[in-house]
Amino acid sequence: MTDKIYDVIIVGGGQSALACAFFLRRKELDYLILDDQDSCGGSWKQTWETLTLFSPPEHSSLPGWQMPESAGEFPTKAETIDYLCQYEDRYDFPITRPVKVRAISKGGDIFTLETTQGPFNSKAIISATGTFKNPFIPDVAGREKFEGEQLHSADFQSSGKFAGKKVVIVGEGNSGAQILAEVSKVAETFWGTKEAPQFLPDDVDGRVLFDMASAKYYAEKKGETYDSSKFNLGNIVMVPSVKEARKRHVLHSEGQLQSITEGGVIWENGAYQEADVIIWCTGFGYSTGFLKNLVSIDNKGKIPTDKTKAKEIDGLWLVGYGGWTGFASATLIGVGRYARQTVKEVSDYLKA
Ligand code: FAD
Repeated sequence: MTDKIYDVIIVGGGQSALACAFFLRRKELDYLILDDQDSCGGSWKQTWETLTLFSPPEHSSLPGWQMPESAGEFPTKAETIDYLCQYEDRYDFPITRPVKVRAISKGGDIFTLETTQGPFNSKAIISATGTFKNPFIPDVAGREKFEGEQLHSADFQSSGKFAGKKVVIVGEGNSGAQILAEVSKVAETFWGTKEAPQFLPDDVDGRVLFDMASAKYYAEKKGETYDSSKFNLGNIVMVPSVKEARKRHVLHSEGQLQSITEGGVIWENGAYQEADVIIWCTGFGYSTGFLKNLVSIDNKGKIPTDKTKAKEIDGLWLVGYGGWTGFASATLIGVGRYARQTVKEVSDYLKA
């Protein structure tokens, strides 16, 4: 048990935490990062082996230090993890691993964090725990009856073990398209999508999406509205693996899944498809369960916030949760501006 009271504790040690730490360090606040992983890299360590970023290094960088050149057009998973690890070392952030924060309580002005390494205390908390620990699978009728294998994209590593199988891939986002592109090289694939997949033009990658995010941010700051519907951040980016899959004519949707049986799936048009595997690329909730003693949380993990600040309790901020706490804030380049603003608010709060 330590009696020390930090100014700020950041929960989580991925890219969002590092962006916040960059600005906290400048403010010379006494802060600590608690991360439940064994080593650096956040959730990138758990993603599939062939995942690449959808923008080049200069559009995939945290504040202060640009990601080094990539061997290819887009940085690989390994290059991204390497960048995050080097970023931590460069700024010598105080990080303790592995420490899982189980719950937080507040007495007076001080938060006490209950963790796997005992209690920690702080005057303010920044939650930067991402989404990866809270995979979402929709409640499709008959799902529990399926006798084949089911997994979420969060647990997908590589396509090898699916060779020769019949694989249903569910979800029309980037994960669904990219996993379909991989698995279709070795297996017979069937793509289940709720809506028709929306492919971005070939020349629209993360650069364009980020420029659009910036235009929206500055327009809204001036009180103007900005129509960002042209290029939705959730639409499919034509990364090289997806372009290659298009050439093989495998990016074809069967429509929505109506139900699941012991041996396969039934599509919305009533057709039956035998299947050995279902891969759910159906997104994530937010990894905020450890906040449940402090604030109200909905079934996706969302809590009431004003931008990044929790509404129901003073001293708590949430950074990096995409559209919820900042448009494009779940990207390397997008999180910086929300981290900067949040740290300013934290610093003002601590002074007051
Ligand atoms: P995470 O990376 O998830 O880090 C959170 C950390 O907190 C983890 O280490 C986690 O283990 C830890 N943690 C969680 N709960 C606790 C707890 N209770 N106590 C202690 N520690 C905890 N982003 C880009 O910028 N560019 C891209 O091109 C891009 N492409 C993507 C493609 C796909 C298919 C996917 C799925 C994502 C992509 N992303 C991309 C998004 C990016 O991977 C995530 O948004 C990013 O990892 C979020 O960073 P984070 O720091 O907020 O969360």
